[in-house]
Amino acid sequence: MKNKKNNYSHVGILSAMPEEVGVILDHLESIESKMYGDFELFSGKYRYKNSKEILITTAWSGWGKVSAARATTRLLSSHLSSIPIDIVLFTGVAGAIDKKLRQWDIILADSLIQHDMDARPLFEKYEIPAIKNKKIIPKSNLLEDIYYAMKKLLNKKNISKFGSFHKGLIATGDMFVSNGEKINQLSEELSELSAVEMEGASFAQVAFQENVDWLVLRVISDEANEDALSDFNKFLSEYKLYSFDLIKCFLKALVK
Ligand code: SAH
Repeated sequence: MKNKKNNYSHVGILSAMPEEVGVILDHLESIESKMYGDFELFSGKYRYKNSKEILITTAWSGWGKVSAARATTRLLSSHLSSIPIDIVLFTGVAGAIDKKLRQWDIILADSLIQHDMDARPLFEKYEIPAIKNKKIIPKSNLLEDIYYAMKKLLNKKNISKFGSFHKGLIATGDMFVSNGEKINQLSEELSELSAVEMEGASFAQVAFQENVDWLVLRVISDEANEDALSDFNKFLSEYKLYSFDLIKCFLKALVK
C-alpha cells in the first residue's frame, strides 16, 4: 500500500449496475474504452483541486459473484494504461440486515463473507477454501484512514441525500434477499451482520488474492424484506443522481 495518500495515481472503481458508477464518465477527461466480449472498461483522467489528476478505470460488472469476479480480474489485468492500479473500490447499493440502518445510510465494509459458501464437511460453513478464512478483511490502516477522512467530509459537506456512515460486516451471495426467513437465518448465524448484496465478497476475494488494496462501499437501498423489490427499484432511479457524490467523497478521502 502507498504510505502517503496523495501518492495514488490509478484507482479502479467497479459497481454492478451503471446507475451506481456510470455518472463518473461525465467527470473524466480523455476517456478510452475497450470491449471484452460483453464487458466494457473505461479509463480516463479525473481532475481534482484544479491542477492535480489521477487515472480512473471503471466498469459495471452485472449482478452476482461470477460477474463481479470476472470484472475484477479484467480490471486488474487489462492494462488500458501503463500505470498500474494502486487500489480498487466496489460501490453500489445493498439491503439492510441491521435494523438500525435506513435507506441512504452508507457502509464501508470492515469485513465481508460469502453467505452461500458452504464446503462442509471439508471446511467450516462460510469458510472460503482458497483463502482458508470465512472473512475477507481490507487492510486496517487503509480502512481506518478512509473511514475517518470520509466521515469528516460527509459531516462537513452535508451531502444531504445520504444518511449516517458506518463500518460493518457485509454478506455477499447469489441471491436477492427479500424475505424474513433468510434475514433471520443470516442474523442468527452472523450476529454483527450489517447488510447483504451480491458482489462485494467476490470482488474482495479476487483483489485480496491478487494482492491489490481494496475497499467495498455500499448504500442501503432496501431492508431485504418483502418490500425489498419495490423499495429497490424506486431507490435505484433516484440513486443514480447521487452516486457520484459518494464516489467523489471517497476520492477526496483517498487523495487529500
Ligand atoms: N431488482 C432486481 C434485482 C436486483 S439485484 C430484479 O429482481 O430484477 C440487486 C443488486 O443490488 C445487486 O447488485 C446487489 O448487490 C444489490 N442489492 C440491493 N439490495 C439487495 C438485497 N436485498 N439482496 C441482495 N442484493 C441486493
